[in-house]
Amino acid sequence: MTLEYQILGNPGRDNVLYVRLDSGSGIRTFLFDCGEGCLSNLSYSQLQAVEHLFFSHFHMDHVCGFDSFFRCNYNRSDDSVNVWGPIGSASILQHRFQGYWWNIKGEETGTWFVNELQSDCIVSSRFELKDAFEEKHEGLVREKNALIIDEPNYTVSSIELDHKGPSIGYKLVEKPTENIDGAKLASLGLRPGPWIQELKAQKSGLLEVDGKSLEIARLRADLVTISEGRSIAYLTDFLLDEEAESTLIPWLNKCDTLVCEAQYRKEDKHLASRYFHSTTEQTSLLAKNAQVGELVLIHLSQRYMKSEWSEMLAEAREIFPNTKFPDEWAIE
Ligand SMILES: [Zn+2]
Ligand SMILES: [Zn+2]
Repeated sequence: MTLEYQILGNPGRDNVLYVRLDSGSGIRTFLFDCGEGCLSNLSYSQLQAVEHLFFSHFHMDHVCGFDSFFRCNYNRSDDSVNVWGPIGSASILQHRFQGYWWNIKGEETGTWFVNELQSDCIVSSRFELKDAFEEKHEGLVREKNALIIDEPNYTVSSIELDHKGPSIGYKLVEKPTENIDGAKLASLGLRPGPWIQELKAQKSGLLEVDGKSLEIARLRADLVTISEGRSIAYLTDFLLDEEAESTLIPWLNKCDTLVCEAQYRKEDKHLASRYFHSTTEQTSLLAKNAQVGELVLIHLSQRYMKSEWSEMLAEAREIFPNTKFPDEWAIE
């Protein structure tokens, strides 16, 4: 499997995280937030293929670009559209859905699920194009577990952060994959065939291979190697105080990529605290303490001159060397 990501939007402007997961049997894509103008680099078909849209919160700079997504997906025919966000998401999004003239009422269909991540549960509401999004169909209320999504190839978990109100952080993790060691297969004199799928699916018992009955547990020990999945976390617009740090460090533990806000530099800590944001000093310390693989700084404030962006990066690298801005920004 491969997990790739791209930061959409320019430095000093709104940003979006776009993630692409190729499981070998299919490609899944995910969007984190919908800042203004960020989606213009994605094609209509790329936007229609997004499996889940995750909102951190609904400040303008994270939702201004939603219309581009909505335009491509309001009548998605093959599946429902899945949106996630903090408490209040359904009401805010319903206003967005209804911000158009729907004189085609009843002629087209499209189903949207808005999943609100509340403190101890997930409340899902359904909205339908065929009733012009007028009804908020109350749906499922389920307990919120460590994983909010658990699919065969990946999982997603969430964490509630403090932005003078909830801002949700997300972590997407590929599940480990099992591979067959071709060299060992040959050394055992076995030929690949449909039995390999069965070997991957079963943990014990017997398997017929080339007319011989072989023990699955033994075969697995000889042939199967495990590749750990990659992981990416997205955190933006949150106060990074001691309490947040103590929950985030174990939650992020050894995550491959942490994409994180860079709204304030260290000398503006008082402003960061006042507006419930974090500084790059705090986020690079978090990256270090959580032993993540890399820290990608996004959501740069226009408050700073371009010349200061490099200084911010250098300051962060003093604490956590593997820090960078998105490659496309070419800021060193
Ligand atoms: Zn905000
Ligand atoms: Zn923001």
